[in-house]
Amino acid sequence: MRLAAALRAWERSTRPVDPEFAEAMERRWAGLPEVVRTPGQVMGRHGVGCEGTHGVFPKCNLACTPCYHSRDANRVRVDGGHTVTQISAQMQLLRRERGPRAHAQLIGGEVTLLSPDDHAAALAVMREQGREPMSFTHGDFDEDYLRRLALGPDGHRRFDRLSFAAHFDKLMFGRRGIERPGSEAALNPYRQRFADMFVRLRREHGVRFFLAHNMTVTPANLSEVAGVITSSHGMGFGMFSFQPAAFVGDDRRWHEDYRDATPDAVWAQIERGAGTALDYHVFEHGDVRCNRTAYGFYVGDRWYPFLDGADPRDLRTRDAFFTYLGRVNFTGTPPVTLAIKLVRVMARHPGVPVIGARWLLRTVRRVGLRESLRQRRVRPVTFVMHQFMDAADVDPAWALMQQGRTSNDPHIRETQERLAACHYAMAHPETGKLVPACVQHSVLDPAENAELRRQLPIVQVRRRAAAAGVAAEARGGSACGGGVCG
Ligand code: SF4
Repeated sequence: MRLAAALRAWERSTRPVDPEFAEAMERRWAGLPEVVRTPGQVMGRHGVGCEGTHGVFPKCNLACTPCYHSRDANRVRVDGGHTVTQISAQMQLLRRERGPRAHAQLIGGEVTLLSPDDHAAALAVMREQGREPMSFTHGDFDEDYLRRLALGPDGHRRFDRLSFAAHFDKLMFGRRGIERPGSEAALNPYRQRFADMFVRLRREHGVRFFLAHNMTVTPANLSEVAGVITSSHGMGFGMFSFQPAAFVGDDRRWHEDYRDATPDAVWAQIERGAGTALDYHVFEHGDVRCNRTAYGFYVGDRWYPFLDGADPRDLRTRDAFFTYLGRVNFTGTPPVTLAIKLVRVMARHPGVPVIGARWLLRTVRRVGLRESLRQRRVRPVTFVMHQFMDAADVDPAWALMQQGRTSNDPHIRETQERLAACHYAMAHPETGKLVPACVQHSVLDPAENAELRRQLPIVQVRRRAAAAGVAAEARGGSACGGGVCG
């Protein structure tokens, strides 16, 4: 009996399609504006979009120009208990609204200001709700922190896999060893050092990783984008994501005319770095005015797309992927379970392996058989550009949307279309609503951070630190440390 029950459970867990996931995608597709229901649209066909946390650790210990956080963010104390409680509530709402599986960003100020245990607890509550978390950092932390996060106090591995997005660009000030970078190239040793920590963690403790490289782009570093890609693509990052700067967040840190770094200009730089044109219509995530994405891989120093948008056979392969594999959830599925699910799809649809084999042959031909054999190593790397919108546009657009009204102003109407197709949601358990991240940062962050500042004032910590200092002095030591003095 027990064996029969185990077999039934195994059969269920390896079914290609989880009905709850499929239903969540159907809802997502039904809610998308017509303008983004394109042949390449991924939302509603192979995912429900991306999610992020807010108001859970707003403080950061570097200074970026621009900074998307409101001016109160750095006056909020980092408090692990608050972080975990809030994340749990936000993730439960996302689970209810967006279904059982999604990628979610553990994002706020600087994630490593949380203790390793609090950081680990935050990742755990995200996973409990079916979220595949990615921690957002400036990358300026020590290897000891990473090990204590990954291994736990008993020295045992507590995660099989970690995902981090690391923000590196010369518009950030205060990084240890390079307080004011003179160029993007000057940051390369720091990018490499960051990635190397994860390589060692995998080698020594078997913790797999996915690393994304994030970079804000303004006119000041636009011409250096291509160089960042050519010099860093082999460091271990699986994604290079670029954010053309927008007028959002702390206006004391708006120093340039960001509109000069247009999306087309930034994308042209990314293409220069990749060494080839990048078709961002093969797969689309929400509105292409918000997101451009190109999936592919490096063989040696050359990048190739997984699917060539100019080849109708590749586009048919994409359509077949959506038809047969779109509703199979890949996110967070253990590799062996995923492999069994895929085998079951192929058993039911024998044409799928044929389509796959033909695509593989075309791709090897594209790379060149000799080159494929010579290099032997394929490194998947995705290029992304995410263009946040200016607060001055989001504010009126969102206000009208709350009244169910469409703007007569074409520019605000475009903003409304983009918000309606938003790929990046944040949850508000107190209202039961999800909002686009643009709305969070442009409209809601200032009041939210002012309230958090009241709830979690740093001044209390300083008082405690002062008290601790008196005690330490009495012991002949120092109370400086733990970021309190920073
Ligand atoms: S609406 Fe804003 S947060 Fe949402 S995808 Fe577009 S730019 Fe990103």
